[in-house]
Amino acid sequence: MLTWCFSYSYMPSSNLAYESGTAPPSLARDWNRVRAASDAQPFDLVVVGGGITGAGIAHFAATIGLRTALIEADDFGSGTSSRSTKLIHGGLRYLAMGEVSLVREAALERKTLHQIAPHLAEPRWMILPAATRIDYLKYRAGVTLYQMLGQVASQDRFAGTRQMEPAQLEPDFDWSRYPHACIYREYLTDDARLVLATLRSAVAAGARVLSHARAAEIRESGVVVHDSEGQQEPFELRARCIVNATGPWAETLLEAPAEQPRLRLSKGVHIVLSQDRLPVRNLVMIEADDGRLMFVIGRGRYTYVGTTDTRYDGPPTTWPRVDQADVDYLLAPLRRYFPQHPVSREDVVAAWAGLRPLINEPGKAPKEMSRKDEIWQRGNFITIAGGKLTGHRHMAGDVIARIGATLKRAVPEELPVVPLRGGDLASVGADTVDALVSQVGKRYQQPDVVARRLVRIYGSEVFDVLGSTPQPLSASLFREEIDWGVHAEGARTLEDLVYRRLRAAWFAPAELIDALPEMAAHMAQLMGWDDARRDAQIAATRARLEDDLSFQS
Ligand code: FAD
Repeated sequence: MLTWCFSYSYMPSSNLAYESGTAPPSLARDWNRVRAASDAQPFDLVVVGGGITGAGIAHFAATIGLRTALIEADDFGSGTSSRSTKLIHGGLRYLAMGEVSLVREAALERKTLHQIAPHLAEPRWMILPAATRIDYLKYRAGVTLYQMLGQVASQDRFAGTRQMEPAQLEPDFDWSRYPHACIYREYLTDDARLVLATLRSAVAAGARVLSHARAAEIRESGVVVHDSEGQQEPFELRARCIVNATGPWAETLLEAPAEQPRLRLSKGVHIVLSQDRLPVRNLVMIEADDGRLMFVIGRGRYTYVGTTDTRYDGPPTTWPRVDQADVDYLLAPLRRYFPQHPVSREDVVAAWAGLRPLINEPGKAPKEMSRKDEIWQRGNFITIAGGKLTGHRHMAGDVIARIGATLKRAVPEELPVVPLRGGDLASVGADTVDALVSQVGKRYQQPDVVARRLVRIYGSEVFDVLGSTPQPLSASLFREEIDWGVHAEGARTLEDLVYRRLRAAWFAPAELIDALPEMAAHMAQLMGWDDARRDAQIAATRARLEDDLSFQS
């Protein structure tokens, strides 16, 4: 007999208003403009690091009227913030570690993110299967507490919705081996897209941002900025307050190293398989062979699986290696939960690794370490590290409080709940994501899976992106996305475009390979690249895609 427990509710946001009809805010790099603004008058705040933590702080700061600049050494979101599991969640497993307040805050935060960016906080069923009734009761106790902390509305619990049987929900799962399940609401996001939406909202509020601009030196008067592309002269970006939001790199900017490292990095790997090989419709939480919980997540035509959690002792890097051992660890439990769909290393079509910047707790293994954040301050230099993508708005609030105290300025505790760019579905006459998917499908005559991808990526801006007659590049990618990626979202390389704008490198890898030359040719026109530069971009992106799968050889 199948048993299951609770579900989670979300609140529609159709009554939220925000400006429309203006030119879309752009993340395109304008080095001289930022330099001139700094020369004219110091910024109130410079944020170093363009991941979700920095983006959230810049958005908050600009919205409350602080003159704000943000610099990012590589591409926006290129660090940990494009490599997460992409869950907006409280982390049920952290409850078992006693992290009640972290879990509570995150569980509540899901509602807010759904309000401000419904396309980037998709409510999905999380299935937590159990082989025995004892396991089931243990999980049920956790889920009950989790939902209580997140103030879940009773009418949206899975049992309360009178939806289908769990076996219908996930037909390819081995329900004979795991006959019990807790089913409840979690939210799925797209981390890199959340960074871009947050940064564009910051720009709309007046922030200046520069990608491929590295903080080389922190001074009391500002930050010395170097051009990571080697084209521009370094300059001092003058600021009254500086925030170090560089995630795994945070300690590299601290003047005096602490006796013990303040951060401990942990590597997390995900692998992507085609839905043909592993058909998963929802989110399934499974146990790895060592008892750790991990996720199997259906996304469009693909399913991704993650994550590992292993100590990482090297210097922080944007591209940690995916090893065979990581992939084998992720594949092993799938054979128990989906025995009808045996998968091997050769079935993996994409993979990524990210580094968690964890607050160091000497003697503990990464999986036992807290996901809390910490703020360290010296004069006008504030560092924030740790935390989770889900809690970035709270983290921003804590940093803004420090900035307020430093600048002797009153600041609000929280940002008003206003849609991010792309989050105002009402502005295009849709009250839900599904309604917008249906509009897009009809208008552009696209199947649901393609329309859904477009809405999930661009939200209410989807019509601005595609225009009247979009030109297909492949089954689900369009030429107009390149224009948008460059002009509105500041892509500077082919890698920026296919990894973090279109998300094709990990979630449409097969069609991407064929489309790459045409994409590069169009991007070359927009960027003014000559043939040699265009070819170098294609070669670099191909090499990167091959490197992601180098564990197969
Ligand atoms: P980053 O995203 O790494 O941003 C820091 C940025 O600083 C980088 O882009 C870097 O290039 C830049 N930088 C570095 N040095 C300099 C310099 N000198 N000058 C200028 N810029 C610089 N959280 C969740 O809520 N849900 C999840 O499902 C989830 N899953 C996860 C799974 C994995 C495998 C991992 C690793 C983490 C996960 N997290 C999750 C945690 C979450 O991803 C991180 O907390 C978050 O992305 C950290 O963001 P950040 O902005 O602090 O760091």
